[in-house]
Amino acid sequence: MSEHNQFTMQDPRYQYPPGDTGKNSNQPDPALDRKLSPAAEHGDKIYKGNGRLKGRKALITGGDSGIGRAVAIAYCREGADVVINYLPSEEEDAHSLIKLLTDEGQKIKGIPGDIKEEGFCQKLVNEAADFLEGIDILVNNAGKQQHQDSFDKLTSEQFRTTFETNIFSMFYITKAAVKFMPPGATIINSTSIQSYQPSAGLLDYASTKGAITAFTHGLAKLLIDKGIRVNGVAPGPIWTPIQQSGGQPAKKLDGFGEHVPMGRPGQPVELAPAYVFLASQESSYMTAEIIGVTGGEHLP
Ligand code: NAD
Ligand code: MG
Repeated sequence: MSEHNQFTMQDPRYQYPPGDTGKNSNQPDPALDRKLSPAAEHGDKIYKGNGRLKGRKALITGGDSGIGRAVAIAYCREGADVVINYLPSEEEDAHSLIKLLTDEGQKIKGIPGDIKEEGFCQKLVNEAADFLEGIDILVNNAGKQQHQDSFDKLTSEQFRTTFETNIFSMFYITKAAVKFMPPGATIINSTSIQSYQPSAGLLDYASTKGAITAFTHGLAKLLIDKGIRVNGVAPGPIWTPIQQSGGQPAKKLDGFGEHVPMGRPGQPVELAPAYVFLASQESSYMTAEIIGVTGGEHLP
């Protein structure tokens, strides 16, 4: 592990590089982290654990790449066992993550499949609970984002698929997972700054993120009866493959994230501490909260 880790003090504006150079910006959906140019930082050599999730059992959707990948690295290094879900076409990213962590002696398994299907979501949760011998952290992080530059181009089919991927699946997976979750367990949902400040070209996506924020607030009130806490993280512009496969128009990729006060996009590793904090008992008095990690764009 390098000397340099997430605790090393430095000027945050220059901690990571500025936005994309616009190269290699058209990957098919879903894009791969391996092909992301410039490469993103997931904490492989940077994230140092401190036993904050010792003995915990976590299921992370969209764990192959981007934010989910950084969260998987952080959770394992904090002492948790982890199952990640991803699409079969992302096997390459998932495999490299599983190899990295298995080589370190961590316990991690990948279960590929499409979370738009309720039957698969139930199977995923059951298999994860089998492997982990329970589930006490659920990170609902998978998501689909397709930019359309006019209302006319946004089809009913896209609108429906975005809802099925981003929010219906969250209900299916949570419904199946809660049965396994003991008091003290935590659920963390990936929402977005788009929930509060929707971009014109992301109408369907931003609407699902608004739904996820409301789902998080409401579910927290329902599940506290079982001693389960539910919170969310709202990222700003983060350098991940979702942006390169139509999540942003190509012209916006050049200089991506430079409009925020910090003047640069966030890297996936910069999200991991918020997900660790919300999963761990350190955040015991927090439920129904959304933490913004936005480079200064802030939540309302
Ligand atoms: P990413 O592409 O690395 O991760 C998204 C993952 O979602 C994919 O890896 C894929 O495994 C999964 N996924 C998509 N459709 C699926 C399906 N049908 N079945 C199973 N899995 C599916 O990108 P990311 O930016 O790390 O995204 C993670 C989360 O963060 C998403 O919910 C996204 O909306 C949210 N988010 C990202 C940003 C950003 O700027 N990158 C900003 C705000 C919120
Ligand atoms: Mg991926």
